[in-house]
Amino acid sequence: MEAILTGALTQLHEAADQLQLRDEMREYLTSFKTVFQTQFPVEMDDGSLKMFEGLRVLHNVARGPSKGGIRYSAHVSLDEVKALAMLMTWKCAVVDVPFGGAKGGVTVDPAALSSNELQNLTRRFTSEIIPIIGPDKDIPAPDMGTNPQIMAWMMDTYSMTQGYTIPGVVTGKPIALGGSEGRFEATGRGILYVIQEHLRAEGGIQGRTVAVQGFGNVGGVAARLIHEAGAKVTYLSDKDIALHHRDGIDVTAAYAFVAKGGTLTGWHDLFARDVEVVAGADVLAAEVDILIPAALESVLTEANAAAVRAPLIIEAANGPTTVEADAILRERSVVVVPDILANAGGVTVSYFEWVQARQFQRWSEQRVNQELQSIMAKAYQTIATRRPVNAPNCTLRQAANWVAIERVVEAVNLRGIYP
Ligand code: NAD
Repeated sequence: MEAILTGALTQLHEAADQLQLRDEMREYLTSFKTVFQTQFPVEMDDGSLKMFEGLRVLHNVARGPSKGGIRYSAHVSLDEVKALAMLMTWKCAVVDVPFGGAKGGVTVDPAALSSNELQNLTRRFTSEIIPIIGPDKDIPAPDMGTNPQIMAWMMDTYSMTQGYTIPGVVTGKPIALGGSEGRFEATGRGILYVIQEHLRAEGGIQGRTVAVQGFGNVGGVAARLIHEAGAKVTYLSDKDIALHHRDGIDVTAAYAFVAKGGTLTGWHDLFARDVEVVAGADVLAAEVDILIPAALESVLTEANAAAVRAPLIIEAANGPTTVEADAILRERSVVVVPDILANAGGVTVSYFEWVQARQFQRWSEQRVNQELQSIMAKAYQTIATRRPVNAPNCTLRQAANWVAIERVVEAVNLRGIYP
């Protein structure tokens, strides 16, 4: 079993112990409603046929239709998709949006396909999963390797087979097709809101030093908003370069450069020669107030957790901390705001997009951000203040799992077992 699924199951059993769940409920929660695997052909530009493998896993739908991204990556595996589907169930429960959890993926390196091939693959994969997805059943969204254009093709394919336009079948669409204002920035913005809640009683974010690993959709937006809120981003990295400046990096300028198609390396070379280049590992071990892993899973491990010097970690990426690293960080009293809370801004605004699609409404960006702030703040306060009676000193991760699983169990029990 892959580490990410082992980690998800370990956390589930820990919360189940605190909730004193019956064995049959544990079995129910560790099971998956639907595991759909397909191999399908795609016509390539040279006229040849190539077979691809696609997956869609629905974990639990007790609280509502399932929700979760579609990943295009050469490394998609069933264990990974199952783990991420399960995390989506808990994440939706943490922010209390009426969805269950799902995830999907196609084993493909999207960069190796032409736009036409990518469209063919997306349309064929969508038609394969049509029996499972739908605005009332299961609502995909972008994830690693997929984007608003791919969501547009998915929405169109689904709609063509039903005979009319159904924008609510996917979220993360382009704005012109009913995508939500604020969706692109939502995960990074949610990170800012969670940090603000966490530091509310301790003087706020102003002047804090921050290290951010990853400068993509989540890390880029989070770093920029945190910088603009008055914190000093002293360490910043992407897959090619890691940068350090003791007085803080001008993230607004770096973000604008990268948003126009540049790279962090290019920005450094052209405009920021005073910013020091450091090793990638230095970012995770940075002496800062807040460390934000916003790139990949399993970057904080048994091997480097003891080197972390930040007293506070905000998990912007999914699953950046292994089970072993989590135990070390806890031992060292490093506070970790877990992924299912910290990065839930994305699914929250996806929920807003789905609501707008169902009601043929358009919300302003201001309304989206206000509602996002209110949901993130409420979720944070719930997780920070509620504790199981048998584990009053549990971590924020344990509290988040406990709250989420309790909510899912409540829904399962209220619905009862059919027939
Ligand atoms: P992205 O592809 O836009 O960005 C990833 C960034 O990480 C890039 O800047 C890349 O250069 C960098 N990176 C890759 N390897 C690195 C390394 N070894 N060291 C430093 N940087 C490295 O992806 P994203 O959408 O920002 O997602 C990042 C994480 O957040 C993933 O774990 C994803 O599952 C999670 N997440 C994303 C969303 C969302 O709305 N996009 C929502 C919730 C969670």
